[in-house]
Amino acid sequence: MTDTGDKAISLLIKEKAYNMGFDLCGIAPARILEEHESIIKSWCSSGMNGMITYLGQNIKKRINPALQVPGAKSVIVTGLNYYADKKQGGDGIPVISRYAYGKDYHEVIKGKLNEILDYILILNPGAKGKCFVDSSSVLEKAWAREAGLGWPGRHSILINKNIGSFFFLGVIMLDIVVDYDEPVREDHCGKCRLCIDSCPTGAINENRTLDVRKCIAYLTIESKNPVPEDIIPKMGGRIYGCDKCQEVCPWNENAKPNRTLEFQISDGLKKMTTEDWLNLTSEQFDRLFKNTPVRRRTYERFMRNITSVTKSDS
Ligand code: SF4
Ligand code: SF4
Repeated sequence: MTDTGDKAISLLIKEKAYNMGFDLCGIAPARILEEHESIIKSWCSSGMNGMITYLGQNIKKRINPALQVPGAKSVIVTGLNYYADKKQGGDGIPVISRYAYGKDYHEVIKGKLNEILDYILILNPGAKGKCFVDSSSVLEKAWAREAGLGWPGRHSILINKNIGSFFFLGVIMLDIVVDYDEPVREDHCGKCRLCIDSCPTGAINENRTLDVRKCIAYLTIESKNPVPEDIIPKMGGRIYGCDKCQEVCPWNENAKPNRTLEFQISDGLKKMTTEDWLNLTSEQFDRLFKNTPVRRRTYERFMRNITSVTKSDS
């Protein structure tokens, strides 16, 4: 039992999360996500995971919270909106995905989660917990569904009925029992298939799996290989990520611009012309993307994408 009481502590955690600027916060009871073992294995064995081979390793750890936090009882999941209504690029100017407009979300969210965890430790000094942001060792999307934040759309991205899908997830695993939210078991995509039909490369399968080998987001961010020749003409100017399947989703029709100062686009990025992108030097790259998620990749990989897009335009 917690000192403050299960329900009270849950309410306080959520109040803290909203005060920290999070748009969503839900809590799930920790359990072994057994059903995901076969899902991960079958996706990896199909080859559709491309170079994301690490997912197929240490699966037991990925699905079992107790192997992350001994005695784990609760999984808190937060959502932080990153939507920007004004798009960078377009009209021939290379395009960057919205999630990369501002400061590195890993840092921004980790800071907020750590503050929530510190607060929980004040409420319950005996508790132990750990924070995760976009960590390959935690099935964040599955936990978000368990915690009532939303359901995975046909494009595999989590959708929340109120804020759509342009949000980052954060997770705190705790070894104390608190009060829990209902999971989202329904699928609210209905008969819609706009994301499947709008994906420029046909990367979204009918069975709700994604073939990352065709996905522009994966090919421009994760993949170490050159962008495949057959994908290049379909890139549509996208040099880092792709928002197309989210842009067409009806659940994003009323998406509101994010309120997080760190996620606002810099003037430097806003002003970039096609010429500037083509002539970007390594020093300019460092300056332009300092402390942003783009800086997690090398200048060379970034320029590979610009060269590919240029080829598609020629
Ligand atoms: S991110 Fe782009 S390429 Fe990837 S599935 Fe969505 S629309 Fe297709
Ligand atoms: S575009 Fe339609 S099918 Fe795709 S995720 Fe959104 S609601 Fe679901």
